[in-house]
Amino acid sequence: MTTGFTHETLGQRVVFAPAGAAGAVAAEVGRRDARRVMLIAAPAERRLAEQVAGDVPVVAVHDDVRMHVPVEHAQRARAAATEARADLVLSVGGGSTTGLAKAVALTTGLPIVAVPTTYAGSEATPVWGLTSGHEKQTGVDPRVLPASIVYDAALTTSLPVDLSVASGLNAMAHCVDAMWAPHADPLDIALATEGARALATGLPEVVADPGGLDGRQDTLFGAYLAAVAFASAGSGLHHKLCHVLGGRYDLPHAQTHAVVLPHVLALNAPHAPDADRRLAAAFGSDTALGGLEALRTTLDAPRALRDLGMRESDLPGAVAAILPVVPPSNPTPVTEDTMTGLLRRAWEGAPPR
Ligand code: NAD
Repeated sequence: MTTGFTHETLGQRVVFAPAGAAGAVAAEVGRRDARRVMLIAAPAERRLAEQVAGDVPVVAVHDDVRMHVPVEHAQRARAAATEARADLVLSVGGGSTTGLAKAVALTTGLPIVAVPTTYAGSEATPVWGLTSGHEKQTGVDPRVLPASIVYDAALTTSLPVDLSVASGLNAMAHCVDAMWAPHADPLDIALATEGARALATGLPEVVADPGGLDGRQDTLFGAYLAAVAFASAGSGLHHKLCHVLGGRYDLPHAQTHAVVLPHVLALNAPHAPDADRRLAAAFGSDTALGGLEALRTTLDAPRALRDLGMRESDLPGAVAAILPVVPPSNPTPVTEDTMTGLLRRAWEGAPPR
């Protein structure tokens, strides 16, 4: 039975336009009466940006994008927006590109129209992140939530298969972690369950047919549901852990999530029977962990943190940094021993348990 709860729904237009982004983007920009658009897209996303921005009044193009938004990059982008007298930011790209658009919106208040080309989900959250040295600072501010999202699965067909898998499992991590994150409510859990089902359906199709639209469309839909659940539920153990690893050791974002996820699920599932049952059903499996592992095998997902550049000597420092940020809501109590075992298995690529 569902007990009483409060859920805040974020105000945002969401347009799914398979193979129709250009028209949808022009319509969303037009709805806001924008006349001076700053386009942000990384060099690898430039061709996609040109496809979708043809009917938009672009006055500045900015491609100085870096993962985790270093503050100097944010400052340069903000200065470019001011100099161009932009009245809207159009971002076309992955989470790094969306992140830079959010950094501009944070200080300028400019609205964002976001066109995602990965499954990271940043476009559906009011979370911003900025990095100074090895310190990543994050915050929540309604100004950075894009006013509109335009999802077009055709824009993700150029994402290489290994990146698609890692990015899709990053979205899956939003679903799994939303089950026990500090502010998880029944709506988040419903969104996360359906998100996991859509991702588990779509990702194997993406691997089998990377250029096809059906699998990409399911995956994009799942990624959106996942991000909405994450935005409301907040960061659970998995996200806290990946945040520490990514920031301290400069590990690639999506791949780190893909490696760590089964280990956190193995730790928590025995003490989260409802999440276990829901995720198992979403995967069409007897248990959540069995379903996730079968999916990861099908996808040939990344398995070991050591393959991503983390050193064995980093493990004790990582454990010490993670223990203070373990959310009190985590279903399984976390000790130094359990975290050491979890991280070592993730580092080696050993089976989760
Ligand atoms: P990314 O944006 O860095 O993209 C990875 C690479 O793929 C880049 O080189 C990019 O240019 C390229 N690329 C993107 N789309 C492509 C396409 N369709 N075809 C070919 N190449 C393409 O990676 P990401 O995983 O999407 O984003 C990671 C960043 O997003 C991290 O900084 C992370 O912290 C942030 N993030 C933030 C939130 C949030 O809520 N604020 C949520 C998720 C991720």
